[in-house]
Amino acid sequence: MVGSTEKTRYHLATELVYIDGDAVKDNYNAASVPIYQTATFKQSSADGSGGEYDYSRSGNPTRTAVEVHMAKIMKAERAFVVSTGMTALDVILRLVKTGQEVIAGDDLYGGTNRLLTYVSQYNGVKVHNVDTTDPKRVEEKLDPVKTRLVLLESPTNPLIKIADIRSIAARVHEICPSALVVVDNTMMSPYLQNTLELGADIEYHSGTKYLSGHHDLMAGVIGCREQSVGDQLYFVINASGSGLGPFDSWLLLRGVKTLGIRMEKQQSNAMEIAEFLEAQGLKVHYPGLASHPQYELHRSLSSGAGAVLSFETGDVGLSERIVESAKLWGISVSFGCVNSLISMPCKMSHASIPAEIRKQRHLPEDLIRLCVGIEHHEDLINDLARALETAGVQVKRG
Ligand SMILES: *Cc1c(COP(=O)(O)O)cnc(C)c1O
Repeated sequence: MVGSTEKTRYHLATELVYIDGDAVKDNYNAASVPIYQTATFKQSSADGSGGEYDYSRSGNPTRTAVEVHMAKIMKAERAFVVSTGMTALDVILRLVKTGQEVIAGDDLYGGTNRLLTYVSQYNGVKVHNVDTTDPKRVEEKLDPVKTRLVLLESPTNPLIKIADIRSIAARVHEICPSALVVVDNTMMSPYLQNTLELGADIEYHSGTKYLSGHHDLMAGVIGCREQSVGDQLYFVINASGSGLGPFDSWLLLRGVKTLGIRMEKQQSNAMEIAEFLEAQGLKVHYPGLASHPQYELHRSLSSGAGAVLSFETGDVGLSERIVESAKLWGISVSFGCVNSLISMPCKMSHASIPAEIRKQRHLPEDLIRLCVGIEHHEDLINDLARALETAGVQVKRG
């Protein structure tokens, strides 16, 4: 059972807004958690003791406030906020020793792929990239002695494939009791999917995406189920100095309050757009569509389909023209922002994966990814329809 479950008294949409008054003791009852923009804290005795905080690398009240809040939202025993999503993974990877092994997906976030490659080349850690949407492929690589981490993303990005987190976690814990199941839950956000409840040991997020929601800060969030794992993670964060600064902690806390309302709107827009594209006869990858091969599995893991989808046009040149003809849709990497974005993963976010590996992993070069924002859905669809027409596609209007 997750340690702090009993603390969740309201629906998640309410918990997101409600900041527990005990998280930070503030002398003036500030309605907004203050930004403690300080590196050091004065102590009351000559032996350096006396205060709850001494140095902001080790701890800062603004950071604590967002960590306590995130632990509640993620139903984690403990949560940490660090400088970026990649830092979150870097901190977690430091739990792996030379000679141990990592099993990870083959349709991963580009930066994740890059860091895992580095670790395998410099730290003597073997990384197996397998198709995690087939639990058997994961099981084949499990080694009770060597496996340390099993790293999952679901849905994957940009192909939007689903990994059965619940069954994989159960099998990993059965076969490798000392291995940790880690899920990058950025695509779903804690609002739509709780992977600690599905059996993961650690869940992390790029806070740069949905949690903050406005592309105005970078952050990473890590939540874990067990105190002992939390202690190890804290050790690395303090030792390496990767904790999030006070101002960004404050921005993250501010952003996360609107996660529920943003996600509801972004998701309903995404559904309208997925249906529009499917009606054009295009191959659309979105777990909210009944045509998604793992529609039922996704529904069993999460409470929604999210707001990232991708589609294929069959022609790289055509895809480029569509992307460049869109106006409302900004050409940008990343997702989770209030405004809508369009990109070609193979040329942008996933360009760091060598072309031959992209091919091996069936990543279509013509794939277009849409990250849907909170605009009015009719404007988004009209803009997309116009871009398709400009690029040379005959558009059927519904
Ligand atoms: C963006 C992203 C990351 C990396 O997060 P940063 O905050 O950019 O370092 C990791 N995983 C996924 C799924 C992401 O989308």
